[in-house]
Amino acid sequence: MARSMVAVVGAGTSGLIAARSLSRLGVATTVYDQKRVLGYPVRASGILSINGLKGLGIGYHSGVTNTLSGARIHAGGQTMSVRSKEPIAHVLDRIKLNDICRQEAEDAGAKVVLERKVDAGALTELHKDNIIIGADGPVSVVAKHFGLGGTQKHVLTYKAEYDVPGLDDMVDLFFDKELAPDFFAWFCPNTKNVLEVGIGINPGHGNAKAAFDRFVKTPDVAKVLDGARMLDGAACIIPMQLRKRIVDAEQEVLLVGDAAGQIKPSTGGGIIFGGHAAMMAADAVKDHIESGASLDAYEKRFRKLFMPDIKMHAFVNRLYSKFGTRGFGRMLGIMNALGMDGFLSRYGDMDRPTVMLRRFFLRSRA
Ligand SMILES: Cc1cc2nc3c(=O)[nH]c(=O)nc-3n(C[C@H](O)[C@H](O)[C@H](O)COP(=O)(O)OP(=O)(O)OC[C@H]3O[C@@H](n4cnc5c(N)ncnc54)[C@H](O)[C@@H]3O)c2cc1C
Repeated sequence: MARSMVAVVGAGTSGLIAARSLSRLGVATTVYDQKRVLGYPVRASGILSINGLKGLGIGYHSGVTNTLSGARIHAGGQTMSVRSKEPIAHVLDRIKLNDICRQEAEDAGAKVVLERKVDAGALTELHKDNIIIGADGPVSVVAKHFGLGGTQKHVLTYKAEYDVPGLDDMVDLFFDKELAPDFFAWFCPNTKNVLEVGIGINPGHGNAKAAFDRFVKTPDVAKVLDGARMLDGAACIIPMQLRKRIVDAEQEVLLVGDAAGQIKPSTGGGIIFGGHAAMMAADAVKDHIESGASLDAYEKRFRKLFMPDIKMHAFVNRLYSKFGTRGFGRMLGIMNALGMDGFLSRYGDMDRPTVMLRRFFLRSRA
């Protein structure tokens, strides 16, 4: 007989959104997390598109620390500035965001159990009565235990916050193959007075902290940080690929969020895709429990809706990996000359390039 309860492993945003959605659909759900304080220590940033946030239906407003209008992209001495007339993204306090998601899951009826590390033995036990949702991040125990995909491509990151007064509302992205091979370095104004400085590198090129130390010593960055106090610092990893399989329908196991590799390979942002996937997974689980529908519906729906976007993000990532710093810089120069900065400012969508193209074609026909 099919199981009728759900155990979610991991109370990050993906696991909590899955639990909230399942509980609202009337499915008995328990979420387990090894941490005492969710989201702590903060190892990742919280830049989320305003459109994407609306789609997740989170009451996020009390977690907003800053609002952004665009990005400056730097490579090989060239800069392309993409600024929207309207604010396009919020920076969210990650601990607060987790708190809000936890509250929403609990309000919907989910049980959240903290300080409970789920290992292979615990998974075998939980699996006796529960459908399992693995929302346990990039190094997923659930994926490993149930044989869902092997090793994945990933990026190593290091980021730190500094007190720097008078920041504006733009993110800076620095593409430099020597400093940040296959990824980039960034500045993000987390508040008007706190600058996050970060870097991501391909693991084949050593250690992210060493790359970070080299980046902050470059003359332009050292000038910005001159006299600033470093407030914190943390290393992390970002999965760069969707796993080959994100569902095992027979075993009744699903993966969501970073555990599934549901990120944008261009920037490493994963909260929006992971959150949408969590809601899709909940729908599939409910249909499975109620009418015996296959859990494969989740994977099919996710791939149909998001694969074209993920492929476009991966294409952008390959472009800057292949072109090199100068080549990418030349490309920015050409894009500026062709007015692409204006195009992106007007039609750009941070999460879904397919939506951006649709917007452009619909408006140019009108
Ligand atoms: C430097 C950096 C910057 C980023 N910037 C952004 C950004 O600006 N915007 C964006 O959208 N995304 C960003 N991301 C990506 C984003 O942080 C992730 O995509 C997102 O956190 C994934 O959420 P999740 O719930 O799937 O996994 P996680 O947030 O990793 O949560 C997994 C949870 O599972 C728990 N867990 C793991 N194993 C076990 C176990 N065995 N038993 C019990 N609990 C377990 C962990 O304690 C954790 O709470 C960034 C990532 C990094 C590293």
